[in-house]
Amino acid sequence: MLLFGTGGTPHSAKTKTAIDGIRRIAELGMGCMELEFVRGVRMGETDARLVAEVAAMEGVKLSAHAPYYINFNAHEPEKIRASQERLLQTARIASLCGAQSVVFHTAFYLGDPPEKAYDTIKKYLEEVVDRLKQESIHIPLRPEVMGKRSQFGTVEEVIKLCTELEGLAPCIDFAHWHARNGAYNSYREFASILQQVEESLGRAALDDMHIHCSGIKYGAKGEIKHLNLKDSDLQYVELIKALSDFEVKGLLICESPNLEEDTLLLQETYNDLVMAG
Ligand SMILES: [Zn+2]
Repeated sequence: MLLFGTGGTPHSAKTKTAIDGIRRIAELGMGCMELEFVRGVRMGETDARLVAEVAAMEGVKLSAHAPYYINFNAHEPEKIRASQERLLQTARIASLCGAQSVVFHTAFYLGDPPEKAYDTIKKYLEEVVDRLKQESIHIPLRPEVMGKRSQFGTVEEVIKLCTELEGLAPCIDFAHWHARNGAYNSYREFASILQQVEESLGRAALDDMHIHCSGIKYGAKGEIKHLNLKDSDLQYVELIKALSDFEVKGLLICESPNLEEDTLLLQETYNDLVMAG
């Protein structure tokens, strides 16, 4: 099954807490939610265990998004160390929450050639992977496909990292990829990305995908901001059709400003196609 859910607590939840978010996801008939630690990991261990309990009780799958302030290509060693710490901290808490994976924004190029940035990022990321292994924390880290051209994270870069580092899996953000190059907005193009994932990482990767999706506004430098699907040009029906045809399984997290409204739209589009198919 492909499960649908919101990036963060739905707007219509009783409060903004993760627990009320999970309960609301279940009430709305959705299947998953991404815990947003984007401004820092402030959840304690006791709360994390409670989140895991409620999610299991409600039958809601979870993922977690690491803080935005991560750059594995930072030029200052202390910023690299802080980035490693933030990702580790997210992985530890996410694991206690019972989350299936940790999504993160890998880096900015900062004017470096992409190949040089790649090598730097791989080296410092590998240290995080090793550390988690030592701590017996087995949660996939998912570098995200990014929407700004100044950010590391083309589809190729993300997939290559995942083939070369154990414990990594991709977060394919279709809105970001479309915003980055203006293309990749048709059934054929969406299908080509899924094909690329399958060829490089195997069928298992399509059986355990993590997807981000939203409407998006973009310009010459790529992503400007997220939009609601119907205010954007994203061909989400074609995207959902490609996901359905490739029998993609895993989590699809919707990050439109209206959160649950677009999540339900995507889920209904998917269910209609599956029923019809
Ligand atoms: Zn993100």
